[in-house]
Amino acid sequence: MYNCIIIGAGPSGASAAYALAKQGHSVLILDRASFPRSKPCGGGVSPAIASWFDFDFTPVIDNTITQVRYTWKIGDPVEATLKNVKPMWMVNRSAFDQFILDQAIQKGARFQDNTEVTAIQPQTEGWTVKTPRETFTATYLIGADGVKSVIAQWLGLTNPKPSLAGSLEIKTSQPPQNLNKAYFEFGLLKNGYIWNFPKSYGYSISGAILRGNKANSAELKKQIFTYATEFGLDTSNATYTEYPLGLWRENQTLHSHNALLVGEAAGVLDPLTGEGIRPSIWTGLKASEAISQSLQGNPHAIAKYSDLVKQEWGNDLILAQRLAGLFYQFPQIAYKVGVKRPSAAQIMGQILCGELRYSDITEQAVSRLKKSLIPGMKG
Ligand SMILES: Cc1cc2nc3c(=O)[nH]c(=O)nc-3n(C[C@H](O)[C@H](O)[C@H](O)COP(=O)(O)OP(=O)(O)OC[C@H]3O[C@@H](n4cnc5c(N)ncnc54)[C@H](O)[C@@H]3O)c2cc1C
Repeated sequence: MYNCIIIGAGPSGASAAYALAKQGHSVLILDRASFPRSKPCGGGVSPAIASWFDFDFTPVIDNTITQVRYTWKIGDPVEATLKNVKPMWMVNRSAFDQFILDQAIQKGARFQDNTEVTAIQPQTEGWTVKTPRETFTATYLIGADGVKSVIAQWLGLTNPKPSLAGSLEIKTSQPPQNLNKAYFEFGLLKNGYIWNFPKSYGYSISGAILRGNKANSAELKKQIFTYATEFGLDTSNATYTEYPLGLWRENQTLHSHNALLVGEAAGVLDPLTGEGIRPSIWTGLKASEAISQSLQGNPHAIAKYSDLVKQEWGNDLILAQRLAGLFYQFPQIAYKVGVKRPSAAQIMGQILCGELRYSDITEQAVSRLKKSLIPGMKG
């Protein structure tokens, strides 16, 4: 019997496995995919995660971003250099995810890929986890199975609020001087935006619909391809994939009997920017702390995890949702009075580095937007 079985070996599950194995707990991590596996993603990672681990991520950082370029419907550009924040990392997701997993395996975690979890059953002392070939048992479970989490459903917990994103991977060689600038396009895609992250092997162009209940898949694809062509890229050999995003629901409960949800299964993706890797890793690490404490006899540790995520991340995500609602409803004004402000790039850089919270900026940003929307309120 394992101390913990983790379902899903993405950044959230692998980080939880690493932290638990490092504490000397027995961990089994199961994933239905064959690893290293690809994941539709821009691969932009906040450097803030470096301080959460005792190993060095350098081997999987392809390049770093120090400059940003914003556009409105391909025109009206603004460029800014990120000052006083650490450069943002660009990673290839299959290498990045495998790297964290390898660190967990080195600490003693057992990993099995090509292994889909098909059922879970509560026992008096923990859980039975069924896969097509084998059945495993553990005292604790972590559901790290991503946005369409079946573990959440089986635990009777709510799935995150679904949204939609598309990813266009274009392989092309490019000069090193292109590798430090990231591109953000507003206006072309309704109710969302497009981000274009350079890598040494090409471009990852992502688009996400972050407002409203009805995501238009055809429109998403059309605008991502339009953007790529306008950017001057040949899309004839590009790979396009659509994938849902999991957004936070107010009052989301993330635990059940000896079981916790982490990462996008828990809906911790930022509804304004689409950032999911840093919050997913954070929840993985916090879940591992809760399980460690519970194993040491703290009877409240598991329930406290839900409260902690809500307080430390969920409340901020609600503010981000409020901001995203206004931002993507009135994108042209938001671009003019928000994105184009000289301080905007620094503020977003600080948010991504965890140096600023949405609670620090939302009130002022909403009031600035409202003043621009309501005639007579302009200061
Ligand atoms: C187009 C796009 C662009 C994005 N760009 C960025 C970006 O630039 N920066 C950023 O921070 N975030 C980005 N994100 C979000 C980011 O990719 C996710 O938030 C992140 O992958 C979530 O990690 P996770 O560990 O929770 O889940 P995942 O990475 O989704 O991993 C879940 C794992 O669970 C496994 N699994 C599922 N069901 C089962 C089962 N029944 N049994 C066994 N295994 C199972 C899957 O195979 C998978 O490996 C983007 C997302 C999209 C769609």
